[in-house]
Amino acid sequence: MIAISACLIGENVRYDGSHKLDDALRQLIQEGKAVALCPEVLGGLTTPRPPAEIVGGDGFDVWSGRAKVIATTGEDVTEAFKQGALETLELLEMYQCTAMILKSKSPSCGTSEIYDGTFSGDLKSGEGVCAALLIHHGITIANELNWKEKIDLASF
Ligand code: SF4
Repeated sequence: MIAISACLIGENVRYDGSHKLDDALRQLIQEGKAVALCPEVLGGLTTPRPPAEIVGGDGFDVWSGRAKVIATTGEDVTEAFKQGALETLELLEMYQCTAMILKSKSPSCGTSEIYDGTFSGDLKSGEGVCAALLIHHGITIANELNWKEKIDLASF
């Protein structure tokens, strides 16, 4: 079993109440090969919610206390993002998932690059808060663009 960011299979869980449906990934859910999870919703954040970005680093820096997740309202939502990541990890263990396909660029789910913390649309290198936690715990991560190269579905 693998896990997939819930917005990628058509669930309206993004900050603006929308989704980013990827038909091939929803097919994996329909075939019973995957479960869908949204770290931000699991962290108790509402939908819709103000957009947020990581300021001062990336997801690894959030876990080490060097960076924070700040919403456009100025609210510090770091703890909700961390809680959502921990809940996601717990569910992965419960479902015995060893890989997750994550939505690119998100402050929770982004892999390799995320928005840069200025709300300008610019990107920086780094992982989202949930992606960093999953990497730390040995979970294989990929995004909607590269999962076919990174995850061998035949092994799940
Ligand atoms: Fe939820 Fe991740 Fe999608 Fe954001 S990118 S809506 S946290 S699943």
